[in-house]
Amino acid sequence: MKITVNFEKPDGSEGLRSTHEDADSLPRRIFIRLVNLMAEGDYNKTITPGGEAYNHGQYEEALEKFQEAISLCPQIEEELRPHIEICNRVLTINKNKEDLEYEKAGSQWNAKPQIIRWFLQKSAPIFKIRCKYCGRYTPYIDPYCGVAYLDQNNCMKCGRGYPVPDFVWDGIDGQAFIYYRNSVTEKEFYKQFSDRYNPNPDHTYFLKK
Ligand SMILES: [Zn+2]
Repeated sequence: MKITVNFEKPDGSEGLRSTHEDADSLPRRIFIRLVNLMAEGDYNKTITPGGEAYNHGQYEEALEKFQEAISLCPQIEEELRPHIEICNRVLTINKNKEDLEYEKAGSQWNAKPQIIRWFLQKSAPIFKIRCKYCGRYTPYIDPYCGVAYLDQNNCMKCGRGYPVPDFVWDGIDGQAFIYYRNSVTEKEFYKQFSDRYNPNPDHTYFLKK
C-alpha cells in the first residue's frame, strides 16, 4: 500500500490524514476493506474473534485466527501483517519472573468465587496487558485515553507510547495517522513505518504547515 497524506474515505473520496475525519473513520475503513475482500462467514469466524483476542492481549489466539484468515483469503495478508508482526514479537519474548507472578496472581484471583471477588474488589489485582513493544505486563490504558508525548499513555516498562494492542490503531491506516500526527516520540516508530511503507511526503509534512 502506498502511503501519502491522503486516505481513501469509505465513499471513495479523499481525506487528509491525521485529521479528526481520519481518526473517526479509521475503524470503519479497515473493517470495510476486510469485509470487501473476504467471504462473510470466513470474516466472522476469523477476524471477529481474532480482533477481539488481539485487543485483549491474547496474542497466541489472535495470531492463530489471523493466520487462518489469511489461509482462507490470501489478499488480506497486507492488512494483517502489522498485527501478525506484533503477535510474533510478543510471543518470542520470554516472560520474566514478575510477568509470571502477575499471571499467577490473576489466575488465583479468577479462581475465587464471584461473591468473594465482589467483597474483595478493592484488593483485586489491577488489569495488565503485555505491551506490544516489549512484551512485559503493563497496566491497561485505553488506546483512546491520554497522550503519549505527555507520558499519559505509555508502557510502565519500556516507556513507549500506546502500549496496548489495538486492532484498528495497529492497522496500516492507524499507524499512518500516528505517523503524520507525530503522536509518539520514539524514533523507532518513524523509522520502522518509513522503511516499510516509504510514505511520501514524510511525517514532518504537517509540522511545517
Ligand atoms: Zn513496553
